[in-house]
Amino acid sequence: MPAIHAYVAFGSNLGDRAAHLQRALQRLQQVPGIESLRHSSFVESAPVGDGPPQGPFLNGVAEVQTTLPPHALLAVCKALEAEAGRILPARRNQPRPLDLDLVFYGDARIDTRELVVPHREWHRRAFVTGPLRELGVDLDARPRHEPPELLDTPAALAARVGDWLAGDCTIGLVPTMGSLHDGHASLVQIARGECDRVLATIFVNPLQFGPNEDFAAYPRDLAGDLAVCRAAGADAVFAPSVAAMYDPAFCSHVAVGAAADGLEGALRPGHFSGVATVVARLFALSRAHRGYFGEKDAQQLAVIRRMTRDLGFPIRIVGCPIVREPDGLAMSSRNVYLGAEDRRAATVLHRALRSACEQFQRGERDRDRLVARVRAVVATEPRAALDYVMLRSADDLAELPPGPVDGGRLLVAAKFVDGKRPVRLLDNMVLPS
Ligand code: AMP
Repeated sequence: MPAIHAYVAFGSNLGDRAAHLQRALQRLQQVPGIESLRHSSFVESAPVGDGPPQGPFLNGVAEVQTTLPPHALLAVCKALEAEAGRILPARRNQPRPLDLDLVFYGDARIDTRELVVPHREWHRRAFVTGPLRELGVDLDARPRHEPPELLDTPAALAARVGDWLAGDCTIGLVPTMGSLHDGHASLVQIARGECDRVLATIFVNPLQFGPNEDFAAYPRDLAGDLAVCRAAGADAVFAPSVAAMYDPAFCSHVAVGAAADGLEGALRPGHFSGVATVVARLFALSRAHRGYFGEKDAQQLAVIRRMTRDLGFPIRIVGCPIVREPDGLAMSSRNVYLGAEDRRAATVLHRALRSACEQFQRGERDRDRLVARVRAVVATEPRAALDYVMLRSADDLAELPPGPVDGGRLLVAAKFVDGKRPVRLLDNMVLPS
């Protein structure tokens, strides 16, 4: 194997910092497979990140010429960190006697669970860019990792996913229709905490819109959506065109059963079949280990859980809590279409659900009286045209018989018709235990 130029950033902020660095550089030079090494001067820098209070670092960068493959070079770095007394696996942003990061390995792009090269943050860290410049590296010629990567065809997605799986990464999928808000961001953040790689998808899926629904008018804002995904920590965004997602001969659909009966299913014929079809396709394309869906769309979540079980997709479905505006309105992409008066009036849904939950807490157990409570509060708001209120079992939304209940989920849907266009809003709440 020909020798490759690799760059290793080093740092220390615990104990005799210069001695740790000198020793690591000496030891690195002695490793078989490292043919030569030169390094920058040491620079002092403040700690970055959200760790505990700690002293400043001494940093620099070493250029090595090596025949070691990248993962072997990484293993050497980890061994030297351990030798210096660092306890591994290390928690993030803790004080440490030695930190060695592989920044570049020739021109290689590596994206595995253990190693991402070029280093994700190299260009944002003066204590890396300064020493690199000192070593004569042309920083402008070096690739920067600016996630999320935008993928717009199934082929591009398959290639990226293939790399992730080959690198032993777990993949979290967050399907959305875009026009992203903090509710969507929370799904990405939850996925970020549980998966090695997070893929958000943005696709306004024509299959799930009825002929008189708002497919054409659905809000779209790819630039804004990418900014939300970036801030929330997505690695990639899959945003295909309709043509890329469904080829002209596309004709297979998922038929959904009882989980799609009633509630939204009754008012939007074909909607959940369209949802299930696109989600099944996204499961297949992303090969994700975990899929993140909001409880905001509780029936959608129930349909997807059922489909996943019935068809045996090897993915774990994670339901995520509803994110609300400060005044209680559940966040929704369609909220932007509410006129000012309707926006104010729309909080009635949350107030109505809360009121019934309070009644439940005070001892009311009768299904129909709890439902009637929601109806009564919504009726105080003349701008709201109620579609339905139901009390169903909390997870699979099975119907509950009349009479006493010991829990469940209240679901409400209403139209607000006086804004720029009619807006249908959904909300739901689990009765408190
Ligand atoms: P949508 O883009 O509306 O299809 O939603 C994409 C995903 O985000 C779905 O799983 C929704 O349930 C979820 N979601 C939408 N609004 C919220 C919210 N306010 N809080 C939590 N999740 C949400």
